[in-house]
Amino acid sequence: MNAPVFRFAPSPNGRLHLGHAASALLNDALARGIGGRLLLRIEDIDPVRSRPELIQGLREDLAWLGLRFAPPERRQSEHLDAYRYQVSALAECGLAYPCFCSRGAIAAVVEADAGRCAPVPRDPDGAPLYPGTCRALSERVADRRRAAGEPHTWRLDTAHALAASPGPHVVRTFAVAAGEGRGAVRQIGIERDEAADPARWGDPVIARRDVPTSYHLAVVMDDAVQGITHVVRGEDLRASTDLHVLLQALIGAPSPRYHHHALLRDASGEKLAKSRGSRSLADLRASGESPAGIRARLGFA
Ligand code: GLU
Repeated sequence: MNAPVFRFAPSPNGRLHLGHAASALLNDALARGIGGRLLLRIEDIDPVRSRPELIQGLREDLAWLGLRFAPPERRQSEHLDAYRYQVSALAECGLAYPCFCSRGAIAAVVEADAGRCAPVPRDPDGAPLYPGTCRALSERVADRRRAAGEPHTWRLDTAHALAASPGPHVVRTFAVAAGEGRGAVRQIGIERDEAADPARWGDPVIARRDVPTSYHLAVVMDDAVQGITHVVRGEDLRASTDLHVLLQALIGAPSPRYHHHALLRDASGEKLAKSRGSRSLADLRASGESPAGIRARLGFA
């Protein structure tokens, strides 16, 4: 096997909180445990929410925690041309199409189709499942609307994608085995193949209106470019991995092994989030917490 490579891949949309710290520390512990490298990737494709001071802030928070990343750091906003190129390659192969529908229009169509008695079909993120309206547009009409400057996303044509790459698609997962006692080293535990069901995402967006990629495409391309062998991230992204393994097969990228860890939750059972007022690492630092204290609290003393 190649030398193991892990990554921590925060989106600079807010300051990091304890949940991010736990995820980064777990990646670090595993990389150390099996003699691998840990890379940092800044997922800053959102031009509105990603701000330079937040990128600087997360670098400071991670350094304060004692985390050191192997160079080079990767910033997604510096690779937009590569994502754009990949989307056009998929479109040329008939695996992606432009979609001119607004979110509101999609919700209205899906709700009307479901009628009053059936539940609205939704993707794993809870969004109404795209009914495929623009998949039916002829190339001529789609080209004309694009040439006229009509805003559009690009969607994966999942039926065509699954015909081109029938699978079976699997997510290669691994458990994490923790040793006993304080400071116990984390090791890679039992490995298991889980069946993936990419179709539950319908025809997902692979390039947004304002950015020539989506989270899903960028993460898959970057894990390949960075040579990531082990992806360790929150269980809220487990469903996304079903789509990621299909995208990997389509673009000829190797599939890493995955571990989706439990999320830290607040006293009311909600996952930590800046929007719900979870305290940031910067706040905790300002109120006198030490990196050793944070590590101990998270079980990485
Ligand atoms: N950027 C994502 C986040 O901050 C994580 C992506 C990933 O680990 O695949 O939630």
